[in-house]
Amino acid sequence: MSDRPDGGQPLLAVRDLRTVFHTERETIRAVDGISFDIRRGETVGLVGESGSGKSVTARSLLGLVDPPGVVEGGEIRFKGEDLTDVGWDDHRGEISIVFQDPSNSLNPVYTVGNQIREALKIHRGLRGEAAVERAVDLLETVGIPDPKRRVDEYPHQLSGGMQQRAVIATALACDPDLLVCDEPTTALDVTIQAQILDLLDDLRTEEGLAVLFITHDMGVIEDATGRVNVMYAGEIVERAPTTTLFEDPKHPYTRALLESIPGSVSVDERLPTIEGEVPTPSEPPSDCRFAPRCPAAFEDCSAVHPELTDVGGHGRDHAAACLLHDDDFATEDDR
Ligand code: SF4
Repeated sequence: MSDRPDGGQPLLAVRDLRTVFHTERETIRAVDGISFDIRRGETVGLVGESGSGKSVTARSLLGLVDPPGVVEGGEIRFKGEDLTDVGWDDHRGEISIVFQDPSNSLNPVYTVGNQIREALKIHRGLRGEAAVERAVDLLETVGIPDPKRRVDEYPHQLSGGMQQRAVIATALACDPDLLVCDEPTTALDVTIQAQILDLLDDLRTEEGLAVLFITHDMGVIEDATGRVNVMYAGEIVERAPTTTLFEDPKHPYTRALLESIPGSVSVDERLPTIEGEVPTPSEPPSDCRFAPRCPAAFEDCSAVHPELTDVGGHGRDHAAACLLHDDDFATEDDR
């Protein structure tokens, strides 16, 4: 028997998740059959360019996909229950989300304390003095100095970094088991970004919080996560422990993302970019969606859809969806 309190089961197990948008002109397959796990106390990354389906994944996990979008298939199994089946109501607050721009998350006409107290009232049943004390505690937890004064301030009185800390405090007011962070540091400068990443890591280690960290920034993925899923055009194309992914990337898209990290080339070289754009998938895949942009593409890539297959061996949990790693298609010369 496992000695873990969760019996060794993942806190969140996503299986074959499909979220589509039915428009008059077409059906957009924004999330197209992805699977991943998150365990308690770990930070898992979801990385890819904009348009790859990361944010739709985040909204799907919280039951926040607006029409004409709909979660059309697969499972979102949280604490053993499939939320697509039982609904989100019994688990509201247990999964919280932090969005990119804190000024959009905070209501400008209410004090920070008011907004935290509202979350405490809804999700924890706390009111009055107990709610005020807890709001001050939460501001202190997220590293806001002088929290007794700040609790009565309005969002515009806080810096961008302080605002994002206040958003995280509001998310924590729900006492979540899983925090979904959708580009939480993109709007912040690098110093504040590092502070927010440290804060999230402290919450993970001290409170046992699980974090799904969504970003386009490979540098942030390296600093913030233990495992990572690389997403492209609605699919996960590579999955690995973060150190493995950085040391031994297998998918050409992952390699291209790594090569485009600032600092990966010397100052007199031009930083490589990935030519072209992420396609909007409207049909079930019949080819490799990365083929038009892939420097390693060969004939079969336009005719065969690569599935995620093990590329790590020895139980390293490293998989990639690329025909270069399928012996039925690629030769040593192709690789
Ligand atoms: S399957 Fe082909 S096109 Fe797709 S990533 Fe691999 S080599 Fe490139």
